[in-house]
Amino acid sequence: MGKLLLLVVVVLLVYWVVKAFSRGLRKQDEPPRQAGAEDMVRCDQCGVHLPRSESVTSQGKFFCSDDHRRQRLG
Ligand SMILES: [Zn+2]
Repeated sequence: MGKLLLLVVVVLLVYWVVKAFSRGLRKQDEPPRQAGAEDMVRCDQCGVHLPRSESVTSQGKFFCSDDHRRQRLG
């Protein structure tokens, strides 16, 4: 009877370890969330890529500077 109990304990322990291990793996599989990462947009005039917050937006288009916005839209 004692051996059976020991077997049950061992099985439960293995089950618990495997579960914890697979949960740890799943956590590592998640893509690292970059803090402060933002959308990159493309200047409609010169094609340079820049963060959305640094871009100039006009008529649904993005520009790297006000100069390029004026060149493009007049
Ligand atoms: Zn530009």
